[in-house]
Amino acid sequence: TDLNKIRNFSIVAHIDHGKSTLADRLIQETGTVAGRDMKEQLLDSMDIERERGITIKANTVRIDYQADDGEKYVLNLIDTPGHVDFAYEVSRSMRAVEGSLLVVDSTQGVEAQTLANVYHAIDADHEIVPVLNKIDLPASDCDRVAEQIEDVIGIDATDAIQVSAKTGQGIHETLEAIVTHLPAPTGTLDAPLKAMLVDSWYDSYLGVIVLVRIMDGVLKKGDRIRMMQNGSIHHVDRIGVFRPQMEMITELGPGEIGFLTASIKQVRDTRVGDTITHEKKPCETPLEGFKPSQPVVFCGLFPVDSAEFEDLRDAIEKLALNDASFSHEMETSAALGFGFRCGFLGLLHLEVIRDRIEREYNIELITTAPSVIYHIYMRDGSMIELHNPADMPDLTHVDHLEEPRIKATILVPDEYLGDVLKLCQDRRGIQEDLTYAGSRAMVVYDLPLNEVVFDFYDRLKSVTKGYASFDYQMIGYRQDYLVKMSILVNDEPVDALSTMVHRDRAEMRGRAMVEKLKDLIPRHMFKIPIQAAIGGKVIARETLSAMRKDVTAKCYGGDMTRKKKLLEKQKAGKKKMRQFGKVDIPQEAFISALKLD
Ligand code: GDP
Ligand code: MG
Repeated sequence: TDLNKIRNFSIVAHIDHGKSTLADRLIQETGTVAGRDMKEQLLDSMDIERERGITIKANTVRIDYQADDGEKYVLNLIDTPGHVDFAYEVSRSMRAVEGSLLVVDSTQGVEAQTLANVYHAIDADHEIVPVLNKIDLPASDCDRVAEQIEDVIGIDATDAIQVSAKTGQGIHETLEAIVTHLPAPTGTLDAPLKAMLVDSWYDSYLGVIVLVRIMDGVLKKGDRIRMMQNGSIHHVDRIGVFRPQMEMITELGPGEIGFLTASIKQVRDTRVGDTITHEKKPCETPLEGFKPSQPVVFCGLFPVDSAEFEDLRDAIEKLALNDASFSHEMETSAALGFGFRCGFLGLLHLEVIRDRIEREYNIELITTAPSVIYHIYMRDGSMIELHNPADMPDLTHVDHLEEPRIKATILVPDEYLGDVLKLCQDRRGIQEDLTYAGSRAMVVYDLPLNEVVFDFYDRLKSVTKGYASFDYQMIGYRQDYLVKMSILVNDEPVDALSTMVHRDRAEMRGRAMVEKLKDLIPRHMFKIPIQAAIGGKVIARETLSAMRKDVTAKCYGGDMTRKKKLLEKQKAGKKKMRQFGKVDIPQEAFISALKLD
């Protein structure tokens, strides 16, 4: 295709501002999909994405568009993931295109992820076309939101397009703006092949599918290619584009976006951001700035039913094939038996993987407390990366500890600002900035990641009634006074409940946890002490008193069916329990005990 007739773009938006709906409408308006094949949110393919309304993997579509100037254009839309956990993948895939549509809900205005995503676009030198969406709604206020885009983001919004992705109003103008405002890609046809690996995923029919953007040269079916990161060589057996269903073609030239398959066994071998070239006549230098995305949050996943360990291994290995950023290794816990220590890009990523194991593989899981990676500096000068509080070395050998910190940006309506500041303060945050944009405040906090991984999002949502938006980036490690807090149930340490806490907050946290556990653990025939301890020292303690009567005693002997039902319930409940020494601890306890409120 003639370079001048190509436009490559992405859509950046805060969640729910209408990115997927707009993409659907662009596809529909151009007749890319016949009316009868149109279903809502074509680009969000995984069930879990649909249910939660989030896009997890980048997706793409090639659209043919006959513009008002009479010329035929090829528009390539790359749909980037919209969540903070996938920030690295967003910033990488932005470099595969030249422009962005900045979609802002005109009834809401600029939100934290609008900012985070548009900054990725600005960093990638994109031409940006602002789109004000949802103008069909009475609460739409385009003037105010356009002004906010100029004030907060600093890009010109005078030509912002007013759109309703729902009714289709403004869609034609959007297509025209893509053609006239966004630049064509550049690239050299007769240079050695240089292509960016934008994304990859596993397909049960075709194996690993690799999404590529050709920078220079031509990629043809039958070529032998080299992944520059690890030097592996592959034979290209298919080349194609998405419309959005697959269509096979024979080659891709400069500026084009499409996919290849090459009998690659696992997604692990294909790293987002890597450079692909030919085995013979390779390009000299790879694309700059490649770094593989690293897991930052770890937790243990154990089967509720220990007989399902092999099934769990199988599920985890399958999921890992398709997700290079998800790590796992076997773990044994005195209390929970055999399981896996898994690493994730963030909490959402964790939730998604856990849900998929439970739903798609039908394995009930116990998830242990999420932990970040601590750097432990030993007296002998060495440094250990601690992924699991249970592995904390003996304190006599430890010099000091460092923990990861993040820079969090929160946008919130004025009236909730006080609650947000208090929440951040409670989580050991250091305020860095506070500015106003209209009736909304933007606060920037330096926060320890370990205070955020657990229930920060949930708390933020609840104190602001859902009106705050949040985004973060890692900023590095800093020393602090952190200790390992153990929980003992009936005098037995439950390693799955061990956490790293700040020394100044240990008593408070310990007390909150033992109180919660007291409510969560059912009574037994004997008294159960529940304690929180640091080193050998108990810092909080509760006692669960012994049970006196049988549950079924409530039924006065008469009603046998009711008695039976209760017994069945007890049995079902038992299955979800784990025995610790002589004590049964319900599965929810592992998550609930760690929530702070
Ligand atoms: P995304 O999270 O940015 O992909 O947002 P979606 O495309 O999933 O849209 C979020 C919600 O807003 C959905 O319920 C859409 O139906 C709705 N929506 C999107 N665009 C419009 C619009 O122009 N008008 C109205 N009224 N609703 C819209
Ligand atoms: Mg979406």
